[in-house]
Amino acid sequence: MACKNCLNNPVIQLTNSSVKLCKSCFIKYFEKKALATIKSYKLVEKGDNIGVAVSGGKDSLTVLSILKKVRDKFTDIKLEAILIDEGIEGYRDKTIIDARKFCDDNKIKLHIFSYKNEFGSTLDNAKNKVALKPCTICGVFRRYLLNKYSRKLGFNKLATGHNMDDEAQSILMNQFKNNAEVSARLGPITGIKKDEKFIPRIKPLYLLTEKEVASYAFLKGLVTTFTECPNSFDSYRGYVRDTLNDMEARFPGTKHGIVNSFLEMLPLLKKHYGKNASEIRTCSECGEPCTGNICQACKLAKKIIS
Ligand code: SF4
Ligand code: ZN
Ligand code: ZN
Repeated sequence: MACKNCLNNPVIQLTNSSVKLCKSCFIKYFEKKALATIKSYKLVEKGDNIGVAVSGGKDSLTVLSILKKVRDKFTDIKLEAILIDEGIEGYRDKTIIDARKFCDDNKIKLHIFSYKNEFGSTLDNAKNKVALKPCTICGVFRRYLLNKYSRKLGFNKLATGHNMDDEAQSILMNQFKNNAEVSARLGPITGIKKDEKFIPRIKPLYLLTEKEVASYAFLKGLVTTFTECPNSFDSYRGYVRDTLNDMEARFPGTKHGIVNSFLEMLPLLKKHYGKNASEIRTCSECGEPCTGNICQACKLAKKIIS
């Protein structure tokens, strides 16, 4: 069957649909959908100073490339990239090369911060010192550094490469773990209540599936190989991801169903938890925002270096 729009040879069948598209029609479809998400959720506004969280992987380079198009069209937007080097040998050292290349080629300033410099240990070392899954340690440190340095660099928004698969996984993980309050922070733009200490995150790829993002990144030459973190295979998210992929293969439309029904409930969740949100305090060790006396990152860093 030929491309639905122009009769050229198709390169992809869209997720949850029988529509097939050729390379050029797919690229147009993808960019139109990302731009429509940005517009309908007001993810980018005049005067924004946006930091893009990059890893050098397909999702983050795609979101950076889409936002660069927006920036090139609206010159009153500032765009820089921020990368967190967790210290995962054989993985992050490789993707950093791709991130640097993309930023150099496109004249985008790239800021790099590492667990080693900030917490005195790489993730590879830290995971042998505490009885926690590497992804748990990684998540706490990454969220901390991204928020801290986005604020210090003056970003008013932080863009991430989260796609529909990532969001569907997070929604289910929060359901399974009875974490409705954490789900209230999800959505195309994160957070429950505005607080200047927390930089909101925007997700322009929110309504595009992993398969679509990977296809776009390859077709545009943003990446040439896929490198997966060696820790991802042993994670709770990895298990939920595989289960969801299995469900999607048997029952097409599963991921769209999860995310779209969640979007209907999200305003109610935000309203409910916004009223009852915990007070934001300041960590007595590092001065970063937290809900207790000491933030999670400081607690974890102490365990690792003790
Ligand atoms: Fe960190 Fe886990 Fe992601 Fe690897 S898979 S980068 S350890 S959160
Ligand atoms: Zn076509
Ligand atoms: Zn702290």
